[in-house]
Amino acid sequence: MKALYPGSFDPITNGHLDVLKRARKVFDQLTVAVVENPRKAPLFSAAERRRLVEESLREVGIEDVPVITYSGLLIDCAKRLGVVAIVRGLRATSDFDYEFQMALMNRDLDADIETVFFMTAGEYSFLSSSIVKEVKRYGGDVSKFVPRCVERALEEKFKEG
Ligand code: ADP
Repeated sequence: MKALYPGSFDPITNGHLDVLKRARKVFDQLTVAVVENPRKAPLFSAAERRRLVEESLREVGIEDVPVITYSGLLIDCAKRLGVVAIVRGLRATSDFDYEFQMALMNRDLDADIETVFFMTAGEYSFLSSSIVKEVKRYGGDVSKFVPRCVERALEEKFKEG
């Protein structure tokens, strides 16, 4: 069974990686799909976000999860790849409304593709790409929360501008 893990990944965090690792155990094949135009203006370009996911996977020794970028409707991307499921992570109840809406809309668009939720690990329940960017922007230590390559990329990004 194939599944797709879509998101902004701006940038990928250990919370994303934790969901990914667990989803990989459940599905035979998992693909990460980085959305080109996320809802919020991204800090990293789509190509940078994709590269950081790929490097992070290498850092943790995962070699069998391809990373793609997509634009347009997620469900179209899912159909093209022939997946049976879309993987999403759930943190606090604040994720719920949006995820609920998306899951129902996607089911309406294609009833054969299920959205499957993985509950966050306790230690990552407060972790988001946004909070990581905010802390790093002001010089805080985020090494516990992101792979090394992401930490370095954030340092470079904030040095630039
Ligand atoms: P999007 O803009 O599509 O929500 P994100 O990169 O913010 O993209 O998140 C992708 C998915 O990963 C979402 O389902 C989100 O809830 C989940 N996720 C993000 N951070 C965590 C975390 N710390 N624990 C569990 N799931 C997470």
